[in-house]
Amino acid sequence: MGAVNRDPLEIWTSSVVSRAGFSGSESFAREFGLKPYRLRQLYRAACKELIETVDGVTTLPKELRAKLAEHGVTFSSVEPSVVQRSRDGQTTKGLFRLTDGKEVEAVLMEHTGDRTTVCISSQAGCAFACAFCSTGQAGFSRNLTAVEIFDQARYFARDLAARGKRITNVVFMGMGEPFHNYDAVMEAVALLNDPSGFGLGHRHITISTVGLVDKIDRFAEERLQVNLAISLHAPSDAVRSSIMPVNRKFALGELMDACERYVQKTKRKVFFEYVMLAGVNDSPDAARELATSMRGHLYHVNLIPYNTTPDAPFAGTSDTKIWEFAGILNEAGVPVTVRRNMGRDIAAACGQLRAQTQPKVRVSVR
Ligand code: SAH
Repeated sequence: MGAVNRDPLEIWTSSVVSRAGFSGSESFAREFGLKPYRLRQLYRAACKELIETVDGVTTLPKELRAKLAEHGVTFSSVEPSVVQRSRDGQTTKGLFRLTDGKEVEAVLMEHTGDRTTVCISSQAGCAFACAFCSTGQAGFSRNLTAVEIFDQARYFARDLAARGKRITNVVFMGMGEPFHNYDAVMEAVALLNDPSGFGLGHRHITISTVGLVDKIDRFAEERLQVNLAISLHAPSDAVRSSIMPVNRKFALGELMDACERYVQKTKRKVFFEYVMLAGVNDSPDAARELATSMRGHLYHVNLIPYNTTPDAPFAGTSDTKIWEFAGILNEAGVPVTVRRNMGRDIAAACGQLRAQTQPKVRVSVR
């Protein structure tokens, strides 16, 4: 049994009606004299046809549209307040205001070819305080709801549709720790995936975690085809604990055991993120140590060039050294990719996002 007990239509509708001040879909439907199929029409219009406002739903009678709009029925729970595009036009960053005034950021990456990836936030702030990540440095603000998470993707889907394109991939790699907001994230996945709604295949979704062992086990039980990425960033407990406080709760051995259980249970590959920090985790010895724990498993390593963040005491490893590090893994038979950074000029790359109007909360994205 998966974590999601409500169906996507119900998840979405209850958010719409509560934003309009109703306690549930029944009282909402009663107030407007709506038959159940009208709710499905609204859901389909917003999530599948990507219509922006109630007024645009031409399958509804004009008077009904006007009445719904008058009562504050809106499709989106997030309001873009600043949208920036990188000089090369490939990366777009949106700062989104939530209904309580909190803000999060999300990023659209348009790769060459038809691939487009949207990186979304699952929390305002983050409780895990990784030393190299600007989000973690300022602490946790609140969990997002499933619909607030989903609506970041829906915003970019509309933006792309206007240019004849669509989202091909969604990654939970924005602000926050997805497994620290587990239920809402699973519901957001259900909304993204719903064939009668947004319709994005599970295989095109990736969840990245700081390494919460109990949640990795729980996620394995979901039996979803969703990809799992682990922010590893160090080959030993000593180094990992020095940059990622979570390692003091879930040590590397426990984390790797959980990853192996996940592979056994799901037969799915695990991706490991490894940010390259000069003099911290980037030595040839570190590469060999990492290779030892990666070799022979269904694992893939992504090396991420470090992106500068305000006040952080780190420097990025040089490109030459990153490739040498990758070479050692490669020779040991470990599949490895060096990530390309996108959107550095608009501070939209990993670890660079932050909602500037909310200086205590910083955002990390890749
Ligand atoms: N909390 C989740 C989701 C964030 S994903 C997680 O930890 O996986 C964002 C990715 O970017 C993580 O792998 C994170 O460790 C990495 N990252 C954070 N700060 C970075 C920086 N300054 N440069 C490059 N990557 C960074």
